[in-house]
Amino acid sequence: MATLMPVSEVTVCPNYVGGEWVESRSTRKVERRNPANFNDLIGYTPVSTRDEMREAIAAAERAYPDWRDKPAPKRGKILLRAAQLLEEHKDEVARLLTREEGKTVAESLGELTRTTNIVEYISGEARRLSGETLPSELPRNFAYTIRQPLGVVGLITPWNFPVAVPVWKIAPALVCGNTIVWKPAGLTPFISRRVVEIFAEAGVPPGVLNLVQGSGAEVGDELVEHPTVRAISFTGSNEVGQGINAKAARHLKKVQLEMGGKNPVVVLDDADLELAADNIIAGAFGSTGQRCTATSRVVVVESVADALMGLLVERARKLKVGDGTEPDTFVGPSVDGRQCEKVEEYLEIGRREAKLAAGGERLRGGVYDQGYFIAPTIFDHVPITARLAQEEIFGPVLSVTRVKGFDQAIDAANNVRYGLTASVFTRDANRVFEAAERLEVGMVHVNSPTVGGEAHVPFGGIKATGFGEREVGSTAIDFYSELKVVYIDYTGRKREGKLY
Ligand code: NAD
Repeated sequence: MATLMPVSEVTVCPNYVGGEWVESRSTRKVERRNPANFNDLIGYTPVSTRDEMREAIAAAERAYPDWRDKPAPKRGKILLRAAQLLEEHKDEVARLLTREEGKTVAESLGELTRTTNIVEYISGEARRLSGETLPSELPRNFAYTIRQPLGVVGLITPWNFPVAVPVWKIAPALVCGNTIVWKPAGLTPFISRRVVEIFAEAGVPPGVLNLVQGSGAEVGDELVEHPTVRAISFTGSNEVGQGINAKAARHLKKVQLEMGGKNPVVVLDDADLELAADNIIAGAFGSTGQRCTATSRVVVVESVADALMGLLVERARKLKVGDGTEPDTFVGPSVDGRQCEKVEEYLEIGRREAKLAAGGERLRGGVYDQGYFIAPTIFDHVPITARLAQEEIFGPVLSVTRVKGFDQAIDAANNVRYGLTASVFTRDANRVFEAAERLEVGMVHVNSPTVGGEAHVPFGGIKATGFGEREVGSTAIDFYSELKVVYIDYTGRKREGKLY
């Protein structure tokens, strides 16, 4: 069980504006309780006002010239210090993450490690913000390109990776010389505060990184609509992302959207079924299925479907569901009541559309009455067009669809609007390469789970999942910088002829 915060320490989470922690002037606030233990009141998220968001944007605008002019390697050094602090504080930060979001402590530590790796990697990019030198068509002329920051950028982030996702935006934005206003998810205010504290302690100057808590429709919208903000990097649901894109387009803002997924694992007839089952279970039920990259569908070739189902059901039934601070817990709670109800609705839909093979209910009794716990659930014989196979559920629910062979498997895997990640299990090298080519996703995994990614490797999806430049890796720099071209003529003479 998590240690409870004494009542006297329960606070309204402050905003961070111009280097000061300030209480929101709004009287509206939303309670945040531990999703694994309703008795644990963590505190309140303020519903900050549009005025408060405008003040944060103004602070970022004031801080911009000095930060832009600081040599990039010096900015990188501050990030390296942030990486060290993240490492030093990882146990304490991981416990807060588990308490607020619900994932297991092991998963929280994994998120912290990935975050630290990303910041370390990006801090090195500070010494590589390079352009190109290009030969000219003219004698004694040449051209070169340089990278310059955009100005004030707005970051809007979800609750499910409340450290990694914000930081993989903050780090490249800072290294490129931008200043930031960050609007985190309302469900994870205190972990957002902790992230900002770490960057401030690392030496990020006042006004360079600002944090405003509140609702998406109010302060999030103000960030998107405000003319000073030159770019928006958003991670969250498809519905919200599309709306943001439409609004930002009116201001010709640069936009990057990473949204939902409906990620398939394709299991072919020559697959190592034990390996496939282990990886499917990890991808489907790890983080309670609340990952954009979670495995939500299995597409299996009919001849091995019964054998695979046997392995999956056996494993799913053994998973321990509970408080993420318990060492043997594998599946934590849904993040809040609304998410839990949404998953329960899909359990009902699933019963109508397919055959229930494991789980299928909210868990009740004892400690389960103190949190939002759902049994790891598997539906078999799910039609390709069923809602269960098409819509993002974001919970511990797996759909299994049976197909005749390789081509049908690829078609079924691609038959969704999303395109984030996919896995294929096979021992056939030819099929590995063909699947990697034909799967309509941003990231393909072979004989490994749909989840995960490395600090220096681009991350993102296609179709209704991703829009704009990829996050993480060197491509992150492309989003947070503009390319400027410079032509130099060192003839000292009036140009004859070529002027076009
Ligand atoms: P959400 O879309 O409800 O909210 C995301 C953020 O947008 C929050 O900070 C929210 O307050 C803000 N927001 C809401 N309405 C807004 C508006 N009108 N204007 C501006 N901002 C607004 O998503 P969520 O429930 O927090 O997160 C879960 C979703 O995130 C899932 O769909 C998941 O797949 C997706 N996700 C995607 C990735 C990825 O990299 N592809 C990673 C993590 C999560």
